[in-house]
Amino acid sequence: MRLSRYFLPVLRDVPKEAEIVSHRLMLRAGMIRQQASGLYSWLPLGYKVLMKVQKIIEEEQNRSGAIELLMPTIQSADLWRESGRYDAYGKEMLRIEDRHEREFLYGPTNEEMITDIFRTYVKSYKDLPLNLYHIQWKFRDEVRPRFGTMRSREFLMKDAYSFDLNKEEAVKAYERMFVAYMRTYARMGLTAIPMRADTGPIGGDLSHEWIVLADTGESAVFCDKRLLDKPIPGKDTDFRGDLHPIFEDWTSMYAATEDMVDMAEFESTVSEENRVSARGIEVGHIFYFGTKYSEPMKATVTGPDGKEITVHMGSYGVGLTRLVPAIIEAFHDESGIVWPVSVAPFEAVLINLKAGDAECDAACDKLYAELNAAGLDMLYDDRDQGAGAKFTTADLVGIPYQIILGPRGLKAGEAEIKHRKTGERETLPIADAVARLKGLIEPQRKTDI
Ligand code: ATP
Ligand code: MG
Repeated sequence: MRLSRYFLPVLRDVPKEAEIVSHRLMLRAGMIRQQASGLYSWLPLGYKVLMKVQKIIEEEQNRSGAIELLMPTIQSADLWRESGRYDAYGKEMLRIEDRHEREFLYGPTNEEMITDIFRTYVKSYKDLPLNLYHIQWKFRDEVRPRFGTMRSREFLMKDAYSFDLNKEEAVKAYERMFVAYMRTYARMGLTAIPMRADTGPIGGDLSHEWIVLADTGESAVFCDKRLLDKPIPGKDTDFRGDLHPIFEDWTSMYAATEDMVDMAEFESTVSEENRVSARGIEVGHIFYFGTKYSEPMKATVTGPDGKEITVHMGSYGVGLTRLVPAIIEAFHDESGIVWPVSVAPFEAVLINLKAGDAECDAACDKLYAELNAAGLDMLYDDRDQGAGAKFTTADLVGIPYQIILGPRGLKAGEAEIKHRKTGERETLPIADAVARLKGLIEPQRKTDI
């Protein structure tokens, strides 16, 4: 992408309304624009990151055996009356009336709708297990929308729903999702710790939240330090096999959010030097809730003996539009964002130090074409601007590598590569630049972990 033809409205000044660093940086890097309280447009750079996050989520959901579909944002109130949640949900639900005075709502979650789809089509135990998910906008009229897209009113969520014949099978579905979540966050470069969590209005008795530690996080959390550098289940994990040992391994060490923590238990099970009591951001939440929805909504299948069986369900959420700021909270410095390669809006930026100079333009255009041909996701700063401004923008928007070429380098046949994360710089023959960048970037895509 040529920056001269792109839409990247970076801000020079630090926006006053933004309280936390990720919100400030998302505004300054031209990623989002607030349209009203808790409602945001995703500008091109932000949207590109959001879509990279989405792709990783889809790949790991699919790997675990879940199947993607898409349900509407608007739902009928009657469906929610069937589960009893229409009245119970309260003011967080945005209620809507159409021209025929029929009652609708903007979905805050989709348990009812997916249960309706399930009961319409699935009739036999032979069709189980089944896990269906979608990635769709939700609306919750939060009392205090804040921190940009970290806690907004409209937000993008992946929500999966599992259907099984009994509790034992449903717990296996829960464990598959548990492992998929571990891999999902790790591929984004995040350390996200699964913690025992409260089930809240969704109900149920088995629940975990994934927490990214950050001082600006809204939840107080308590865990065993050794969870922070535990290796993640690899891509060869057999999702059709027994995942209980992995689940056991992760959940045997203490980790709980403030709603669930028992301080006496925390202190008696975790030795003092391993105790972490910190703040964190909830980036995902999974629940097993049995027949809470399938019972009132009559979602049943015929069992092996011909009897009707009410299915056991779970639901599994990931907040995409919260993950983007959570990643920034984890990866930034005083100059701006420092994206992990796997979610970076561009993998590298080619900086032409003298746009307008015929020779320099020709050399940069050629290098840009080669970098694209090598499959690198490139930004090309071809604007007629000073070098300082170009470096500042590249640092602010956080592109992992800068490849810099100007008249002086051209004469010597050399380019420079700057590593955004470490500040390290290397000078190398222009002819070697493509191979070098490829070598740096490819292993960090984490498509193969
Ligand atoms: P919170 O406790 O932060 O209000 P929640 O527990 O109500 O969230 P869930 O119903 O568990 O949210 O939703 C699943 C995921 O959706 C959360 O883990 C979070 O990542 C994301 N999410 C929930 N509410 C919001 C919001 N207002 N803005 C952005 N993301 C959200
Ligand atoms: Mg939650």
